Amino acid sequence: MTAVISPVTGQSIADVPATSLEETDRAIERAHAAFATWRNVAPGDRARLLRRFSEVVGEHNEELARLEVANAGHTIGNARWEAGNVRDVLAYYSGSPERLFGRQIPVAGGVDMTFKEPIGVVGVIVPWNFPMPIAGWGFAPALAAGCTVVLKPAEVTPLTAIRLGELALEAGLPEGVFTVIPGKGSVVGERFVTHPLVRKVVFTGSTEVGERIMAGCASQIKRLTLELGGKSANVVFADSDLEKAAATAPYSVFDNAGQDCCARSRFLVERSAFDRFMSLLEPAVMGVRVEDPSLDTSEMGPLITAAHRDSVASYVPDGAPVAFRGTCPDGPGWWFPPTVLAPVSESDRAYRDEIFGPVVVVVPFDDEADAIHKANDSDYGLSGSIWTRDVGRALRVSRGIESGNLSVNSHSSVRYWTPFGGFKRSGLGRELGPDAADAFTETKNVFISTD
Ligand code: NAD
Repeated sequence: MTAVISPVTGQSIADVPATSLEETDRAIERAHAAFATWRNVAPGDRARLLRRFSEVVGEHNEELARLEVANAGHTIGNARWEAGNVRDVLAYYSGSPERLFGRQIPVAGGVDMTFKEPIGVVGVIVPWNFPMPIAGWGFAPALAAGCTVVLKPAEVTPLTAIRLGELALEAGLPEGVFTVIPGKGSVVGERFVTHPLVRKVVFTGSTEVGERIMAGCASQIKRLTLELGGKSANVVFADSDLEKAAATAPYSVFDNAGQDCCARSRFLVERSAFDRFMSLLEPAVMGVRVEDPSLDTSEMGPLITAAHRDSVASYVPDGAPVAFRGTCPDGPGWWFPPTVLAPVSESDRAYRDEIFGPVVVVVPFDDEADAIHKANDSDYGLSGSIWTRDVGRALRVSRGIESGNLSVNSHSSVRYWTPFGGFKRSGLGRELGPDAADAFTETKNVFISTD
């Protein structure tokens, strides 16, 4: 058993079994056995079961949200959204089984057609920062495509995933179709990579572990989706609505206490507007409400663990160039205040590394070319924002930045009906959007002679 610790209180809130290697193998074998029937469930029936699963998740929104507040320290507002996201993603992909179209391709002497065959057992490995949505982005399209799923939540945040596994059964999904197995990455996660019956791994987490998983999948040519780290830029031009850009900027990086792969953790601001932007940013940062995440007014909770807080704090040592910082509660829990660093050099760790906490660097740029150069001066390429009133520039800069998900004059979060994923070391493949179920299929081409 592993104790689950609340980051809000530092106290244990549950004990969860650590699944062994043998138990993992058995779960994979059960998922493989279930695949034989699940793939043949009529599309309309599979759709109905996923709709029912979505409804059941919706009926348990508040329970799931409260569980996430306790387990991950998410604000209650965010946690309700996250549970709602699982409901909506299931509802969206419940439309897929009846729309997994193949093609009929004109050929001489017969008929040629393609089928989208489900891949088989899919292993989904989830990080701790968004335990519910990231689980749903993997399992919902996989189930819709006719695959069965074994899912491993992060060691420190297993509770909502375990509950989702129970709700799937309550909704009528057959045993073995969706199995949640809490446990260690080095045991359960690694087994998804090495077990030949797992035909695809969907991994969200650090680039370091992602690299290792990709190498492990190579020996079996195992299918793989990777959603990894980020160090995204929020690019603010002098011609933008600076008031709005500054008022919204804190939430683009401090939401979920900065533990967000899409966090805009580098603010790049046109030099001529730099001082004005900073003077507008300061009150916005000071206004972020960092408090007990179970309060409806809370905008930011604690960090996930004491060790993670230490890691974040290492980016703000004594003498760090803190331009200004907000406040956070004292006492129990792993709190860290919203912190703005400036000036920083482009070689600073804080400028380069994914801190994954409420720390942002602000750096000036000279012109459009310099803005694109600085935005791309990162190994990552996941997200980003561009603030300007010039539509042509918005498009040029959007096309120039090497990143999978950009947002102009806003900091849009992920929409489940649009594709999501990273360039460069931020990942491989895309999740969500209209084509996500396809990523859990193999295309088969069949020619039938009419001779
Ligand atoms: P992590 O890589 O430490 O762990 C992620 C998951 O992998 C956990 O479930 C862990 O148990 C498991 N794991 C660890 N070692 C493993 C191994 N050897 N084999 C198989 N599985 C293993 O990441 P984390 O600290 O939980 O999450 C934070 C990271 O996730 C950040 O870098 C963040 O940017 C990234 N992230 C990316 C996205 C995205 O969509 N691109 C979304 C959320 C988080």
